[in-house]
Amino acid sequence: MGNEIRYDGKVVVVTGAGGGLGRAYALYFAERGASVVVNDLGGSFKGEGNDTRAADVVVEEIKKKGGKAVANYDSVEYGEKIIETAVKAFGSVHILINNAGILRDISFKNMKDADWDLITKVHIEGSYKCAKAAWPIFRKQKYGRIINTASAAGLFGSFGQTNYSAAKLAMVGFTETLAKEGAKYNIVSNVIAPIAASRMTETVMPPELLAALKPDFVVPLVGYLVSDANKTENGAIFEVGGGHVAKLRWERSSGALLKCDDSLTASAVLARWAEATDFKNPQYPEGPNDFLGLLEQAKNLPRNAQ
Ligand code: NAD
Repeated sequence: MGNEIRYDGKVVVVTGAGGGLGRAYALYFAERGASVVVNDLGGSFKGEGNDTRAADVVVEEIKKKGGKAVANYDSVEYGEKIIETAVKAFGSVHILINNAGILRDISFKNMKDADWDLITKVHIEGSYKCAKAAWPIFRKQKYGRIINTASAAGLFGSFGQTNYSAAKLAMVGFTETLAKEGAKYNIVSNVIAPIAASRMTETVMPPELLAALKPDFVVPLVGYLVSDANKTENGAIFEVGGGHVAKLRWERSSGALLKCDDSLTASAVLARWAEATDFKNPQYPEGPNDFLGLLEQAKNLPRNAQ
């Protein structure tokens, strides 16, 4: 298609690009003109071991099709080395897809510190380290695009995934703030909660469902969000998979305003519970000051006290 979005001249870093979603992103960007860093540690889905073949296979696949790619085998915990690979091979980085991930599913009762620590290390620290290393480059060149990867488990909770849920929701707050800090430098950050067939999901989903959830069906949203065609979305959350793209946002009930004197007791809160939790006239807050603004308006806070 002649009007297909392309990425000529862009350097894209995809973490965890040795398989699943990451591989699909890497192939997509390389096919559309980008130079791609294919990062993958090559361990198990539980985060054990490492193997350079994971990244090498994808780099070979890209090169065979005439694309430009280099491999990087570092864990995302050492994000600075991944960004260094991009700069050494291609001179810069323009687009960072924080995608690498692992699972350590176990009930909270049986969870060990190691299960918690490894999940937060790979997902939170890994995304942080890659973004942190790319940030000064993005600022200097006044161009940067970041996709962070959350999960429905983080947005809504999921049995046996307290560690993963916590780490994945962290990606939302991280993205929302990166979006605010990056805006004036033309750095655009968004976060996705994907659903796709991969080694992460192949043991828990039936084959028919897996066939309907190809990683390729997630890629176009990511491709759009990091492209110059995206003029509206920064700091936004999306659920995507099986051809469905949907935006999520925070919703707050219009709430109950209680007097701040001796009458503000637990029973007083209970008496206004229906009002406090009524979503009939919802609000859609976009920043911490929105709440203080409400108090100001209601005269529970002196005007301009913020
Ligand atoms: P996957 O296991 O196929 O791919 C993850 C890749 O990350 C693997 O190739 C793995 O080797 C690599 N990786 C793991 N730890 C790494 C590290 N420390 N450094 C570098 N690379 C590392 O899984 P996937 O389904 O493609 O998952 C991609 C992302 O999407 C993950 O962040 C996952 O949590 C998220 N996600 C996936 C789904 C889904 O339905 N597949 C749902 C929600 C979120």
